[in-house]
Amino acid sequence: MISIKDLHKSYQIGNNPLHVLKGINFEVKEGDFVSIMGSSGSGKSTLLNILGILDEADKGEYWLDGVLIKNLNEKVAAQYRNEFLGFIFQSFNLINYKSALDNVSLPLYYQGIKRKERTEKAMHYLEKVGLADWASHTPNELSGGQKQRVAIARALASNPKVLLADEPTGALDSKTSYEVMELIQAINDEGKTILVVTHEPDIAQMTKRIVHLKDGLVTDDNRVEQIRAAAYV
Ligand code: ADP
Ligand code: MG
Repeated sequence: MISIKDLHKSYQIGNNPLHVLKGINFEVKEGDFVSIMGSSGSGKSTLLNILGILDEADKGEYWLDGVLIKNLNEKVAAQYRNEFLGFIFQSFNLINYKSALDNVSLPLYYQGIKRKERTEKAMHYLEKVGLADWASHTPNELSGGQKQRVAIARALASNPKVLLADEPTGALDSKTSYEVMELIQAINDEGKTILVVTHEPDIAQMTKRIVHLKDGLVTDDNRVEQIRAAAYV
């Protein structure tokens, strides 16, 4: 599903290049559930942004579902993002003046799906994350955990091949974090390929494989005995 080969990325800060990714290699097969771990500043978000086609590597190859992601113009990049990827962010990135239902259905609008079908799909995914009763509420009427559930419903609504989550529990208390991870585990159980960036070891243990980033390189890449979040909630 995902294959990256010798990926490099630098940022230019003043006159000094900051070499953040120094030759990253890994593969993710369909249905896998991978966490990317590393301390703050280790390049986790940089890597996830490249995987999400929000940014491009300086060197190396990124293959997504058999497609080489390289030199795409913004229109094609947006098309691939829509078709292949669902995003979940630490800060939810919901639109505050829109209802939960509208937040979930908006990406479907950009896919040209008609209103009736958009609403049906959005409602279906809100039900799936346990928020059917909250469809008409705006984000400021929802708890942090509920907001992240809306964001997860939004990410799922276009049935992406891969879910990319950047610190999805970073803004949540422990109990709510485990509830959200229970939902993400259930989505993986149904076969969705998921990558989660986290710096929290207990969250990483809830995935199936941990890739450690340090000083711009992968230092460890191991399968783990998945801990079920339900054991904590
Ligand atoms: P992480 O997500 O692991 O905390 P990041 O990928 O956000 O790490 O950042 C890695 C390094 O790159 C940090 O030193 C950060 O300050 C720097 N960095 C990230 N984004 C940019 C940018 N757009 N411009 C310059 N430096 C950046
Ligand atoms: Mg980050």
